[in-house]
Amino acid sequence: MTMIDSEKLRFWWKDRDFMKNRYVKVIFSIAEYFLTLLIFYATTVPIHEWFHLEVAQFFGGDGVIVKTVYGGAMRFTSMPDGLIGLTATAFAGGIGVALIYSLIASLDWLDDIEQFAAMIPLITSQLAYGLAEGIFLFSVSLQEFFDIAQIALAIGWVVGLIISFLYIANHLWGPFWGNKE
Ligand SMILES: [Zn+2]
Repeated sequence: MTMIDSEKLRFWWKDRDFMKNRYVKVIFSIAEYFLTLLIFYATTVPIHEWFHLEVAQFFGGDGVIVKTVYGGAMRFTSMPDGLIGLTATAFAGGIGVALIYSLIASLDWLDDIEQFAAMIPLITSQLAYGLAEGIFLFSVSLQEFFDIAQIALAIGWVVGLIISFLYIANHLWGPFWGNKE
């Protein structure tokens, strides 16, 4: 009876000859980038809303998290205390996710270029949106806030995607900022 070598089993696919083809490598690189982006985008919504609710409760408020068409929302059932409680609750979602994702990206947890690059637009979009929420949610009308938040989110995504595509391109096609291999 032969024992199955789990390491061999895990890597047999990567050892196929066609996997060493440079075009196949590029396709798999891009697939890994988008898959990582998709998975961590999905976890963005619950983590973001959880941070809002956690901080709201810390300041004596409460709420429920609901799934919406565009993502999710934390709805207050009772408001947190004072301007500091409100402001901290508003900042907590985007800033919380940006901090957690920055930590994940900088640890060995994500162990290659594609995974690291995928975290960049998530971090920049959450940072921009979180700052907009913290600054404007309780200082302008709700309609004005939605307009500002959409712009902040768009800027965060565009800036982050450009940085991450440059990062991936550098890895795949040439060292602009030193060889990352
Ligand atoms: Zn939020």
